[in-house]
Amino acid sequence: MTRIIPFFFSALLLASLSACETQEAAKPSTLFAQAWNSGIDADEPAFQVQEIRADTFVLRQSLRTSFEAPFLYLLLGEDKALLIDTGVEGVDLRGEVDGLLAASGHAGMPLVVMHTHGHGDHVGGDAGFVDRPDTIVVGHTAEDVAAFFGIDQWPAHNGALDLGGRTVDVLPTPGHHASHVMVYDAATHIMFSGDAIYPGRLFFECDKAGAYATSIGRVADFSETHQIDWLLGGHVEMKAEAGQSFGQEKNSRRGEHVLELPGSAIGDVKAAFDGIGDYPRVTPFPEFMLLPHPENPAALSPPDWCKPL
Ligand SMILES: [Zn+2]
Repeated sequence: MTRIIPFFFSALLLASLSACETQEAAKPSTLFAQAWNSGIDADEPAFQVQEIRADTFVLRQSLRTSFEAPFLYLLLGEDKALLIDTGVEGVDLRGEVDGLLAASGHAGMPLVVMHTHGHGDHVGGDAGFVDRPDTIVVGHTAEDVAAFFGIDQWPAHNGALDLGGRTVDVLPTPGHHASHVMVYDAATHIMFSGDAIYPGRLFFECDKAGAYATSIGRVADFSETHQIDWLLGGHVEMKAEAGQSFGQEKNSRRGEHVLELPGSAIGDVKAAFDGIGDYPRVTPFPEFMLLPHPENPAALSPPDWCKPL
C-alpha cells in the first residue's frame, strides 16, 4: 500500500467483515519455518530473512522501522541476482543484501534492483544501490519498466529477465499504480504479486477499477498456462481472523495473516472485481479487502466514496 491519511483508518474500522467475527486460529505457514516478527520486540532487527530455497530469500523490513513493514525478495541466478523492491528508506538494505550474497558464496554478484511499483514504500532503499558496482536500478515509470524488461506493448504483453539458468517473467499489472508489475519465477512456481494481490488492503483510485480488473484478468489467464503455487506480496495487513485488518500499528501486530496466498487467490480477487457493480465500494473479503478511494475524498466517505455524485 502507500501512505494515506489517518482519517482513512477510522473509516476502515467500519468496514471489517461482521459476518466473520468468530475467532479462528492463525493458519500455520506452509512456506516459512518462522512466524514473521510482530514488532513487539524492541530489539527486533531491521530485517528478518527467511529462505524459500538456497537461492531465494524473503526479507521483511521490521515494523519498528515502518508500519508498512514491506516484504522484499532476493532471487539468485547463475550470473546475477534480482532484488524485488527496496522498502522504506532509513535502513541499510544494501548491507543486508550484500551480506546474504556473501554468506551464500556470491559476494559481489551483479545485481538488478527492480520494483513491483513506484510507491515510496517499495523504492525507498534505492539510493543505497546507485553506487554499487555491477548494479542496475530499474526506473519507476511504466516506460522505464517496459524498456528494461523488453515489454513491447504495455500492459498487454509480458517481459522477462534471464538471471542465468533462471528466467523470470514480468507481467504489467497497472491498477494500484501505473507501473505495477508482478514477477513470476518458474523455478519456484511463485508469483511475486506486489500490492496487486496480497493479504491486505488492495488500494486503487475509483477510476482505476477497470484497469485493475483487466490486470487481474491477465494474471488469471497467465495462471492457466503456468503453475502458480503461491503468491507473495508486498505486505501483510490482514489478521488471521477472516476479513479483519490491522491499521497502522507498528508494535502490536500479533496474529497476522500468513504472507503467502495460494494460487487460487487470483480467482478470488478476480471474482471480487467481477462483482463490482455500478461503482467500486470498500469491501472486505476473508483474505483481502478491496479499497477503492477517490483521488480527492472531498465530502465523501467510505465505503461508498466512489459513488458518482
Ligand atoms: Zn506498498
